Amino acid sequence: MFRDRVRFDRNELSGAFGDIGTDFPLLVGMILVAGLDVPSVLGSKSTYLIGKIGDGAHYAFGVLDVGRLGLAAATVGAAKDSIDRCVQYAGQREAFGRKIQDFQAIQFMLAEMAAETYAMENMVYRTAWMCDQGERFSREAAICKYFCSEALDRIVDKAVQLHGGMGYSAEMWPERFYRDSRINRIFEGTNEIQRLVIARDVLKKGGY
Ligand SMILES: Cc1cc2nc3c(=O)[nH]c(=O)nc-3n(C[C@H](O)[C@H](O)[C@H](O)COP(=O)(O)OP(=O)(O)OC[C@H]3O[C@@H](n4cnc5c(N)ncnc54)[C@H](O)[C@@H]3O)c2cc1C
Repeated sequence: MFRDRVRFDRNELSGAFGDIGTDFPLLVGMILVAGLDVPSVLGSKSTYLIGKIGDGAHYAFGVLDVGRLGLAAATVGAAKDSIDRCVQYAGQREAFGRKIQDFQAIQFMLAEMAAETYAMENMVYRTAWMCDQGERFSREAAICKYFCSEALDRIVDKAVQLHGGMGYSAEMWPERFYRDSRINRIFEGTNEIQRLVIARDVLKKGGY
């Protein structure tokens, strides 16, 4: 209904570091909106008002919390998939006459990947439970987003290492996972912002 008065401009930014090999590559860009004048809701029965007056920031931040939790859940899936693929490779690849899965250095990588994934999965489940209970979970969502995105980067880095030279080659999956994982520390609020959210809440509560 605002179409005659509002101007939309699309500004697509070309080229991205990751997510370029999927069927649905991430498009990075901006939508510029000009001339949008939402009628005042004060003193009227307008239907444009979402929720209660004065609670806008509360609703907006609630959406951010769910998005951050969803991102963390996605990293858990990527972490498990990475481990499965690494185990498969380690059971096939031979070096110095042995399967590389027999080397303790490779086993330690798998152990650390599994431990990080377990921590990720548990914090995501606990926070999803809080969400289901209708509790506030802003601090927990920020913790999940920051911890899981950084843990996944450590996991895919190990995946590259476990594959040796093939990990660096675009012929195998770790090269792509390494690039695709990196965006998780930037979007849905950078991890520096997550740390600010967490620290603010810790200080407000005077402790954990
Ligand atoms: C592939 C991709 C998809 C995206 N999809 C969406 C989307 O769907 N919807 C959407 O709204 N946005 C989207 N974004 C935008 C994304 O959310 C922002 O890029 C991100 O929030 C960071 O903002 P910025 O780029 O303006 O960085 P800046 O704000 O310029 O930050 C630059 C650096 O400064 C740091 N910094 C900034 N402020 C502070 C502070 N107060 N304290 C400490 N450090 C600070 C940042 O952490 C960062 O390291 C997308 C971005 C990309 C790359």
